[in-house]
Amino acid sequence: MGSHYGVKIRKQENKIKTAMKQKHACPSCGKAKVKRTSTALFRCASCKTVFAGGTYTPKTNVGISASKLQTSKKEKAAEE
Ligand SMILES: [Zn+2]
Repeated sequence: MGSHYGVKIRKQENKIKTAMKQKHACPSCGKAKVKRTSTALFRCASCKTVFAGGTYTPKTNVGISASKLQTSKKEKAAEE
């Protein structure tokens, strides 16, 4: 277990938390009123549309790639 991994993961978690806190534009009405209700589920506070998205953000890129990186690193650490 190298401590340098911990630093990287912590930085990624910060990114994810920031992404989760951001308001997202609703794909239905376009208003930035979308909030995450549970894992991969988002709801628009304006038009009440519920839609599935990435684990952390409606637009999968940040959350998914970061969580994949994190998972693969954890798996590697477990294997060693
Ligand atoms: Zn909406």
